[in-house]
Amino acid sequence: MRPDGGARRRTASTAAVVASVTPLTPRMTRIRLTGHGLHGIGATPGQTVKLLVPGPDTGAPVSRDYTVRGYDDAAATMDIDFVLHGDGPAATWARRAEAGQTLEFVGPSGRYWPDPTADWLLFVGDETAMPAMLAMVESLPEHARAYLYLEVADAAEEQPVGTAARPDVRWLHRGDADPGTSTVLEDAVQEAALPPGHGRIWVAGHTPTVHRIRAHLLEARGIDRRDLYVRGFWGTVSPARRSRPTRAVGSGR
Ligand SMILES: Cc1cc2nc3c(=O)[nH]c(=O)nc-3n(C[C@H](O)[C@H](O)[C@H](O)COP(=O)(O)OP(=O)(O)OC[C@H]3O[C@@H](n4cnc5c(N)ncnc54)[C@H](O)[C@@H]3O)c2cc1C
Repeated sequence: MRPDGGARRRTASTAAVVASVTPLTPRMTRIRLTGHGLHGIGATPGQTVKLLVPGPDTGAPVSRDYTVRGYDDAAATMDIDFVLHGDGPAATWARRAEAGQTLEFVGPSGRYWPDPTADWLLFVGDETAMPAMLAMVESLPEHARAYLYLEVADAAEEQPVGTAARPDVRWLHRGDADPGTSTVLEDAVQEAALPPGHGRIWVAGHTPTVHRIRAHLLEARGIDRRDLYVRGFWGTVSPARRSRPTRAVGSGR
């Protein structure tokens, strides 16, 4: 459960304006949204918003899930980090975004938050999960023992992880392999020596990959389902829709 006891669920959309577009790495760009409507929405970094971006063909809006990477109520700004992965509607919108453009979104929503009292916390994911992972890790107190396994294309896609908790970060490079085709992430989890004590594990990213990691953690490692949160972020659903969450295990959003 989040420290604020859970967010309000919003179903009406909020209109925002692009304030700035900042490339973070060759394949990841940060878009800062602003607008009066952002005041008081109670977003917390790590929560999810449903962006309404122009769809293919008619341009009718389609919904895509993205993570609140940063939120400033006083300034009425919200940052979202986009993987520029290809020609999906959201990635295309982000690639072409310019200051002054409008964007509607629904949310925020999401109740998952890492338990800072756990003996250790493990976060596993690819680039799409990085905004959520970094937001959660940045929230941890200094004494938290956190481990991050992050799949990215190469060293140019790595981002600074500046947090009080000083997590142990493992960057896993898939190299020239297409996203979703590499086993570097699951191989690393299979080889990981999990620390003793009562840990909590969060896994998100390419859906078939995270499902295989879930199976390994449950079946080969004997992890208790209640200590495991797994969510597919992309890779199995037709581009035409995408508003319902994929299956999740454990407590979470
Ligand atoms: C809760 C949640 C939070 C998320 N947060 C973020 C976030 O903060 N930043 C972010 O970038 N993504 C995030 N995602 C993932 C994002 O919603 C998907 O990548 C989404 O498919 C992108 O939409 P699209 O319109 O660009 O492509 P779609 O129209 O959905 O897909 C088009 C094609 O591209 C493929 N594809 C989709 N994503 C990728 C990818 N990353 N790499 C390679 N191929 C891909 C699809 O399999 C499909 O074949 C999140 C997902 C969820 C469920």
